[in-house]
Amino acid sequence: MSSLSFRNVHKRYDNTEAIRGIDFEIAEGEFVALVGPSGCGKSTLLRMIAGLESVTEGDIMLGDQSINEFAPKDRNIAMVFQNYALYPHMTVAQNLAFSLQLKGASKAEMAARVNDVAQSLGLTPLLERLPRQLSGGQRQRVAMSHAIVRQPQAFLFDEPLSNLDASLRVKMRTEIKALHQRLRTTTIYVTHDQVEAMTMADRIVVLKDGLIEQVGTPLELYDTPRNAFVAGFIGSPSMNFVHGHLDLNNDAHVVTDGGLRLPLATRPNAEQGARVIYGARPEDFRLDATGRGLPAEVVVVEPTGSETQIAARFAGQDLIVAYRGRIDARPGDRIHLLPRTERTHLFDAHSRARLN
Ligand code: ADP
Repeated sequence: MSSLSFRNVHKRYDNTEAIRGIDFEIAEGEFVALVGPSGCGKSTLLRMIAGLESVTEGDIMLGDQSINEFAPKDRNIAMVFQNYALYPHMTVAQNLAFSLQLKGASKAEMAARVNDVAQSLGLTPLLERLPRQLSGGQRQRVAMSHAIVRQPQAFLFDEPLSNLDASLRVKMRTEIKALHQRLRTTTIYVTHDQVEAMTMADRIVVLKDGLIEQVGTPLELYDTPRNAFVAGFIGSPSMNFVHGHLDLNNDAHVVTDGGLRLPLATRPNAEQGARVIYGARPEDFRLDATGRGLPAEVVVVEPTGSETQIAARFAGQDLIVAYRGRIDARPGDRIHLLPRTERTHLFDAHSRARLN
């Protein structure tokens, strides 16, 4: 196993600069998720690690060695795709043994390793089946076993669960995380699903337009996003944003475009009158019976049993609020939403950088 680092990595296709200078390091044994909107460069980065794309500029290092010029087969890195190709005419056991055969392993060694991996992923009863006789989840497990059986230095996952139905996705998420806790192999996991990234990864890298927006643990990104992009991308439902300007007279406030004053817990690092975006997560509002807070109209009430989500309209914009427990509210009701001041976020409206 090894650490993996990126040193000023760029990737240019003909007229697109897909990766525009990336520096970060993944520690040995770490599970890192790459997230970001479609087209931000996640797959390109992963494919460069695997050796399926060349590096235009900079270095990708495995341990202290640049692997830029290594052929994919010499990297000892295993990749699991969304549509993992298993040989249709070979049984699960034969599929698993195949990559070892290519590496020249002995028959006894192959059998031992295949049995070992099959056991750890619950595939032993399926070893004699053909791929078409497997369910989606089982096939995905075979794909992972295929990667594990080679005992690679790192695993790369490219949206491996996006073809599975919702409940299986949640189950496989837990399985992959448990597997990582057992094997401790350096893992890089690409997903557009930030919930998947939050629940599985030690650290998350948020990408946008080929650049890193922020790297941190899931809760660092959630609690102190560096900018409005990360704030809006991490968390489901998304953070609510309200536009306004700063008033630093007396106590610091944001004055919303509708003229409402929202207190700030700390004095932000910005000038009087600056245009700002005030951010509050759905769970960081209280319903206020005394008429303070944002006056809003309930549009939709969504009870999930453990939680109630309310979509409301405030000054022409949508707000989503979430409460643990149940709330007696109906569409058309007037409510007052009081943000928990100490949990709110503030961003510069132009640079979108965090101000508090
Ligand atoms: P993601 O995986 O985050 O959706 P990609 O890494 O696939 O993003 O793509 C990043 C950018 O590079 C996109 O603008 C995409 O159109 C471009 N790109 C990806 N592959 C190629 C290619 N083979 N040739 C030209 N442009 C490409």
